[in-house]
Amino acid sequence: MDCVFCMILNGEIPSTRVFENDDFIIIHDIHPKARHHYLAIPKQHFKTLEEATKEQMKIVTNILTTIPKLEKTLDLTNGYRLIINQGEDAGQSVPHLHIHILGGEPLSEM
Ligand code: AMP
Repeated sequence: MDCVFCMILNGEIPSTRVFENDDFIIIHDIHPKARHHYLAIPKQHFKTLEEATKEQMKIVTNILTTIPKLEKTLDLTNGYRLIINQGEDAGQSVPHLHIHILGGEPLSEM
C-alpha cells in the first residue's frame, strides 16, 4: 500500500520509534512544529475516526489512555496538545489516522 505510515510500520521508511505496543507506535515527526512533536500511529490502516470500526476505535482509546502514562518518557510533564487532522479542510496529508502530540514548550493558540 502506498501509505507513508504503513511503510514506516513495515520498516521500509526509517523512523525514530519512542514507544511501541501491540496496537500503535509513537515516532518523532519529521517536521517538528514544537520542541517535542510526536505522532501516535495505529498499526492498522484507516483514515479517519468516521472510518474506524469498533475494534479500531478501541485502538484509538488505547492510544488516548496510554499517552498520559508516557508524559515523563516523552518529556511532556508541563502539558501538551493532541491533534487529529481529519480530511481535507484540516490539512490531513497522510491518509492513515494519527495523533499529533505537541509539547516541550509553551504552545501558541493555533
Ligand atoms: P497530517 O498533516 O496531520 O496528515 O500530518 C502528517 C504528519 O506526518 C506531518 O506532520 C509530517 O511532518 C509527518 N510525516 C510525514 N512523513 C513522515 C516521516 N517519514 N516520518 C515522520 N513524520 C512524517
